[in-house]
Amino acid sequence: MKTETKEISKCGLYCNNCGKFKSGKCPGCEKNVKATWCKTRICCIENGYSSCADCTMTNPRECKKFSNFITDVFSTIFRSDRPASIEYIKKHGSEAFINLMIDQNRMVIKK
Ligand code: SF4
Ligand code: SF4
Repeated sequence: MKTETKEISKCGLYCNNCGKFKSGKCPGCEKNVKATWCKTRICCIENGYSSCADCTMTNPRECKKFSNFITDVFSTIFRSDRPASIEYIKKHGSEAFINLMIDQNRMVIKK
């Protein structure tokens, strides 16, 4: 299995397990140039980070670009914990995260 960090979104999602990615409706975070609304994506690109796991300024649980009211609502509805995914990538590396998501058939660590 080919494992590239490009398969992981800036905010810690494993794009390859996303329905929209699989159906060709979304090219994945890296190539999703239409996502101009996303402050996380812009911040990572401006700083040359593969994802927020590379961030040396703050962390997703405290960063206002990463977490806001809307993302908190989505996180509760979908029981997703993107900050936990970023923490996992920081600790174990992107390849280990991808393997975990493949094993669990998920795109983000569960809340
Ligand atoms: S929310 Fe932003 S960083 Fe996360 S996958 Fe979408 S475009 Fe990428
Ligand atoms: S945690 Fe916040 S400041 Fe750090 S790279 Fe992500 S969006 Fe940017």
